[in-house]
Amino acid sequence: MSARNTRPLIHRLLFGSRHSLWLLLFCLVTSPARAEIVWHWKDAFTAEEKTKLTRWVSETTAAVEQHVAPFPFDLHIFFYRRQSQREPVPWANTRRSGIQGVNFYVDPDYPLQAFLDDWTAPHELSHLLIPYLGRQHAWFAEGFASYMQFQIMQQMGVLSAEQVQARYRVRVERAARRYRYDDRPFAEAALRLRENSEYPTMYWGGAVYFLDVDKQLRKDGISLRSVLTDYVRCCRVRNHDLEALTQELDRLSRTKLFSETLADNRLQTGFPAFQHLMQ
Ligand SMILES: [Zn+2]
Repeated sequence: MSARNTRPLIHRLLFGSRHSLWLLLFCLVTSPARAEIVWHWKDAFTAEEKTKLTRWVSETTAAVEQHVAPFPFDLHIFFYRRQSQREPVPWANTRRSGIQGVNFYVDPDYPLQAFLDDWTAPHELSHLLIPYLGRQHAWFAEGFASYMQFQIMQQMGVLSAEQVQARYRVRVERAARRYRYDDRPFAEAALRLRENSEYPTMYWGGAVYFLDVDKQLRKDGISLRSVLTDYVRCCRVRNHDLEALTQELDRLSRTKLFSETLADNRLQTGFPAFQHLMQ
């Protein structure tokens, strides 16, 4: 064996030839940045609590990334302590300016499984798969995260496919019963729903859009999941407003489904039609 071959691989790549050096630089520049999770402890937590909470969010993030694609940016996760609550995650919201992240308000007395069974982390992390679209389009963003949360919980093995469909049905039917704006399109009424804090009605009315689009994509042999995978890989780090986002998703799916279904939500009065989407 010659002395040359015993050099470490990195040394050979760097100094073996000019061609290898360019190859290495090309790989470094073009390989997608792997998301790191950056933990921020905003209140006092014990080492044991930190282990439990990081495991919960790490497992959920891994499921989102397996289901769709690795996040092309670091995730910043903030924990705030809320003692003696009736649920493990009484409140959470995303952070979208400058950094991409989630604030979790947690009661760390709950066991790990209670956190894994909760929909909040799948919901909040799903929000980060698409850009922030502004308050006016909250129905679209919340509909998206609500649709995705149960897909992610199925990916995690927390819910079966049948349980996912049952949850969609219960929540969408309840939202339709509560909806009181039959004289106007859902996209317009959503602003009023938000003002009146009728959040579940806004969320699950919005989710009908994604149930609808996904069902139609599946008829074409693709799915919302596969289109999102392409989107996160190619385009997520660009800023998109709602029109640009739906056009990009149309382009990636080679359909007009995203923009046409959006136009329907803006034109047709009443709660979005959903009975034909339920399995
Ligand atoms: Zn949300």
